[in-house]
Amino acid sequence: MSRETSVPPSGRVADVRLECAWCGAIRPADLDPWCASCGGSLRAVLTPAGARPTDLVTVTLGEGRTPLLPIPRAVGPDAWVKAEWVNPTGSFKDRGSAVALSVAIALETAGVVVASAGNNAASVSAYAARAGLPCVAVLPASTPRNKVIQALAHGATVVRVAGDFSDAYRVAELVRRETGWVNMTSTYLNPYMTAAHASIATEIAEALDGVIGSIVVPVGAGPMLEGIAEGFERLVAAGSVARMPLLIGVQASGCAPIVAAFERGDATVAAWPGPPTSIASSINDPLRGYPDDGTRTLRALRRVGGVMVSVDDAAVAVAMRDLGRLEGMAVEPASAATLAGLLALERAMAVPRPVVLVLSGHVLKDPAQVIASADDSPVLDADGILALVADLAGPAGPRG
Ligand SMILES: *Cc1c(COP(=O)(O)O)cnc(C)c1O
Ligand SMILES: [Zn+2]
Repeated sequence: MSRETSVPPSGRVADVRLECAWCGAIRPADLDPWCASCGGSLRAVLTPAGARPTDLVTVTLGEGRTPLLPIPRAVGPDAWVKAEWVNPTGSFKDRGSAVALSVAIALETAGVVVASAGNNAASVSAYAARAGLPCVAVLPASTPRNKVIQALAHGATVVRVAGDFSDAYRVAELVRRETGWVNMTSTYLNPYMTAAHASIATEIAEALDGVIGSIVVPVGAGPMLEGIAEGFERLVAAGSVARMPLLIGVQASGCAPIVAAFERGDATVAAWPGPPTSIASSINDPLRGYPDDGTRTLRALRRVGGVMVSVDDAAVAVAMRDLGRLEGMAVEPASAATLAGLLALERAMAVPRPVVLVLSGHVLKDPAQVIASADDSPVLDADGILALVADLAGPAGPRG
């Protein structure tokens, strides 16, 4: 069914077409997540060449244009982070929400449904509120509390399912079919979201004058990685980036279906057997029921000559501590996984500089890893505090 007539004349959504990532079938922009010919997932193709997904944004909270900051103490020279935790709801998901909600409004959706490990619900619910649309968020029962609080604060109807992200995914698709609302689950169900992540590549290229050696990206299903890969491919084609950076995808060893396929040299990704166990809850996506999404990510990675690496929880915890203590950057475990991944890869190969870690979410999203030590901090009177400070300052007393 063509929805062209419902596109307002001012909307550049009229210039977007949907292309099947699997069979190549093309149709005008609409809100159906699937290819009518083969049932595969879609990509949003913008015209004219040079058009940016952010051009489509009419619903905004000031997302994107995040700082690129050096991390000399945690890593060394020529190492940077893309500070995605400073986005309005505390994660990079806001880039996708702004574009996808703007398109959904132009195509006259009546509401929004989202399955989420937490951050996407926190984000989509904010942009839905901003657009005046109802939002149903379907979350795994184990979702970190603070992400649930954000979705509730934005007025979403929050329902939790027993099980993991893949169980929530299935329910959100049922809700979409029942209601006709747009599905903004951040897998490949919403092609406008995936396209939006190319803005991360554009901003990094601008900040580093087109010279990037490597970029490290945390991977759940992988739309962020694919969006960044396609962003860089376009920048290379346009001549504004000298050559494709080494793209490094990181998963947690407690749920690493894409790394497993990469390491075996497989052409396709299989769903992760068993429940995800990693502390990096934002990237705990077992892909159960939609393993093609993993295959799509693997293809994007291979096309640009990238690599995948997995990291265990102990390495993630150390990376999280170091980013916080050495650089003042307190981020959630899924984000710290990028530093752990860089260090793991450097034991096997030289990672080209400059290297950029995408730090995707704020520590307050998922404070469980630091909350135990927060509860341990002493409650003292003034004398006790001064004694403690004297200890810290050392026998010579305060410096300076
Ligand atoms: C969603 C998310 C990811 C993973 O992104 P995908 O596009 O699903 O691969 C990584 N880090 C954080 C903080 C996230 O919220
Ligand atoms: Zn198709």
